[in-house]
Amino acid sequence: AVNFSAGPSMMPYPVLLKARDEFLDYQDSGMSVIELSHRSKLFGDVITGAEQKLRKLLNIPSEGYSVFFMHGGGTGGFAATYLNLMSSKVVRDKQRKIHNQGKTLKCGYVVSGIWSKSAYEECVDLGGNAHVVVNCESTVELDNASDAGVPQIKKGYFDLPPTEKWDLPPSDELAYIYYCDNETIGGFEMNVDSITSAVDTNEVVLVCDVSSNILTRKFDVSKFGIIYGGVQKNIGPSGATVVIIRNDLLVRDSPENQPAGSPTLPPPPGIPSVLSYYYFSSKGPMPHTPSTFSIYICNLVFDYILENGGIDGMEQLSEKKSSLIYDFVDSNPSIFFAPVCKRYRSRMNVVFNFKNQALDTLFVNEAKSYNIFEINGHRSVGGIRVSVYNAVTVDDVLYFLEFAKKFIAKHCK
Ligand code: PLP
Repeated sequence: AVNFSAGPSMMPYPVLLKARDEFLDYQDSGMSVIELSHRSKLFGDVITGAEQKLRKLLNIPSEGYSVFFMHGGGTGGFAATYLNLMSSKVVRDKQRKIHNQGKTLKCGYVVSGIWSKSAYEECVDLGGNAHVVVNCESTVELDNASDAGVPQIKKGYFDLPPTEKWDLPPSDELAYIYYCDNETIGGFEMNVDSITSAVDTNEVVLVCDVSSNILTRKFDVSKFGIIYGGVQKNIGPSGATVVIIRNDLLVRDSPENQPAGSPTLPPPPGIPSVLSYYYFSSKGPMPHTPSTFSIYICNLVFDYILENGGIDGMEQLSEKKSSLIYDFVDSNPSIFFAPVCKRYRSRMNVVFNFKNQALDTLFVNEAKSYNIFEINGHRSVGGIRVSVYNAVTVDDVLYFLEFAKKFIAKHCK
């Protein structure tokens, strides 16, 4: 099967073979990989190795940043980032500076798709002073009309408005800025430059959800306060969540570390241990049982990436695979429509639809007879979405295109 799922997704085949061979008897221990105690040396070596390799791949400074493998997935990160930052000394000290002016720090969100919108809504639900810095949601008119002659309108996230149009509070009034580097549903990929052109990351903590494009291009980690993501797309099986956090943000505010005479703030929000970065940093890398099997596979995938050109190799591959599909879509403008503006087209989730919408479902169904799966768009938006994460090969993409060409020759005369 060629699996273009948006996640959990295809894993590199050599990794699956290795996992199969090691599964029943891990390193002659007589135990299966999934039976290893997380306190055993065997598993200790796995998680330490995984952290070291991730640091190498992403060039994470050995001083200054911590790496955790937590639970909670991308969704857990929505709450965890807000709760942890709002009780950190860095953010609470910032609040003290504006407290006497009657101001409350804003939690800034760049809303470029459904996942960043969900993070914003979670902040609202948790009682945060959530603030939309920019909302990319808009409508486009498809250049064809429905059978009734009415123009077809598509609503979604297609472009990033220029920074002059952002509602950006002054840096001293922002607790943090949150954005999602790749919006998996809409196929909208930004990068940190889109944010740093407007925000000084020395003044404002930058938080980024990289669930769907981590390890597919270089990241200048030093620009970020927190980078996090579920592993189930580019790294491993669902279960673990990677968190990379600047160490100063791990210092929790407490009465003892407040400057004398500072204003008394309302108490910070409580944090469930399972989402608490402080808990992970103060109690060691495994304060409770981690997703051992997920982390074990992540460790193998890190090896695979290191052996296959590292981040540069993955970056080139991602560019090539996604361009092959976008070029095909663009070269058939009377058949397809790719709504995201070219600058922000995702290299991970290639989103498009047939102008004749009836063909979307037929395309997805006929693909199955070629053993091509999961090319339907997210259930909330429809259309087609072909996800080309690191494990998808150029040959897989060429095979998909072979099918797609035959399909349009048959159905789009
Ligand atoms: N953020 C992004 C960018 C995602 O793609 C997803 C899920 O696909 C999530 C967050 C939510 O992740 P999870 O399903 O692990 O909670």
